[in-house]
Amino acid sequence: MNRLETMSRFAEPEEVRPVCACDWCGADLYEGEEVYTVNGDTYCEAECVASAYCAKETL
Ligand SMILES: [Zn+2]
Repeated sequence: MNRLETMSRFAEPEEVRPVCACDWCGADLYEGEEVYTVNGDTYCEAECVASAYCAKETL
C-alpha cells in the first residue's frame, strides 16, 4: 500500500471555484459575494469601478 497516495487525499482542499474575476484588479469573485456590475463587467468594489471609468484629476 502506498502511504503517500493515501495521505494526499487529505491534503487536497475542497475545490471552491471563483465564479468570475474583477474586471479591473482581477480578484477572484465567489458565489454569494456582493459585486458591482457595470455594462456587463463585474467589479469587486466601488474603487475598482471608479478606477475603470473615472480619471482622477486635480482641479
Ligand atoms: Zn477589483
